[in-house]
Amino acid sequence: MHRRSRYPQGMVRFTVLASGSKGNCTAVSGGRTRILVDAGLSSRELFRRMKLAGEDPETLDAIVITHEHQDHINGLAITARRLGIPVYFTEATHRAWMRWLTPRRQMTYAQWMEQCRKQAAERQAEANVSTLEGEADEPEPGTRPAESRPDPTAPAASATVSAASPPPPPALPEDDPRKNDPNWLPAVEYFQAGQPFAIGDIDLSPFTIPHDAADPVGFVFRAEGVRMALATDLGYIPPNVKAQFKGVDLLLLESNHDLEMLRDGPYPWSVKQRVLSRVGHLSNEAAADFLCHNYDGQAAYIILAHLSESNNLPELARITAERALNGHASLLANRLLIAGQHEPLAAIDF
Ligand SMILES: [Zn+2]
Ligand SMILES: [Zn+2]
Repeated sequence: MHRRSRYPQGMVRFTVLASGSKGNCTAVSGGRTRILVDAGLSSRELFRRMKLAGEDPETLDAIVITHEHQDHINGLAITARRLGIPVYFTEATHRAWMRWLTPRRQMTYAQWMEQCRKQAAERQAEANVSTLEGEADEPEPGTRPAESRPDPTAPAASATVSAASPPPPPALPEDDPRKNDPNWLPAVEYFQAGQPFAIGDIDLSPFTIPHDAADPVGFVFRAEGVRMALATDLGYIPPNVKAQFKGVDLLLLESNHDLEMLRDGPYPWSVKQRVLSRVGHLSNEAAADFLCHNYDGQAAYIILAHLSESNNLPELARITAERALNGHASLLANRLLIAGQHEPLAAIDF
C-alpha cells in the first residue's frame, strides 16, 4: 500500500539541547520536518546531545538562526556542512555572521575604523618617506577574504566593510575548493521578521526582539495545530512580542538573571549595564512580570531559558516564575521547566 513517512507518534516535539551563554540549541519536529533552532554548540557536542535526547541528527532538514552571537552560531558551519542542510537567516544576521567568521573582521566597527585610520596613517608615512609613486596595487589587507573572486581591476576603492559584499552563491558544484571558505554553507535562505514562512510541515513566524545584535528574532513555530514560542536574548518584552505569546501551547522564555545577583555579582560594571539594558537580557523579575500581568495562562509548558550561570540560580528563577503564575503552575498546565546549559531537557511531545 502507500508508504507512510510520518512517524506514528510524537509528531510534534520540542527538545532543548542547550540553553545559556555557553551555547543555545533546540530541535523542533513537526509532521515530517525537523529543524534546529540555533547551533551554539560544537557540532560534535550537538550530535552527542541529540542522540542523548533520542533525536537523530541525520534527520534534520534545516537550521534556523535567531541572531549571530557566538552562543547561537558556534557550531553552525560545521553542522550545516556535515548534514548538507540549508541555513535560514535574516539577511543582516547572515552578513553579521560572515563578518564574524572572517578572521580579519573579528572586530567591532569602532575597532575597524581605528584600524583603517592606522593603515591610512602608515601608508601616508610610507608615501612621505619614499617619493616613489608606485602605488600599492595589492588589495588592502583585511578588506577582503583571501578566497574567491580574483578581482583584477579592483583598485583601492573597494576597501569597504563586508556589509557591502553580496551573499555567497547558494551551492558549489565544483570540487570543494571553497569549503575552506569559513563562510561557505550548503545553502542559505533568507527570511524577514514579521513575514511568516514554512520549512516543510513547520510554519515559522519570526518576530523582532530587542537585543544588541544585527537583526535578532524570536519565533513562533506551528505544526499540526501546536504553537510553540521561543524568545531568548531580549532586553525587555515589547508589545509585539507579548502579542506573539498569545495562545501558545509552549512558551520558551528567557529568565537570564536575578537582579540582585547581577548587581552584586562578578561582572564588570560595563557588562552589567549591557545585560540590564533595553537590548540586553531578560531578568527573572521581568519574565515574572510578564507571566503575572500579560500571560494568558494557556500553555501546557513554560520553559525558562538562557539562565546565567554567574547571576542566577535555577531555583531562584523557578520560584520567581511560580510566584508570578500564582499557583497555576502544575503538572497538567503551565508546567514549569528549566532549560540547562550542560544537558538537554527531556523531549516534549504533543
Ligand atoms: Zn544568547
Ligand atoms: Zn545574544
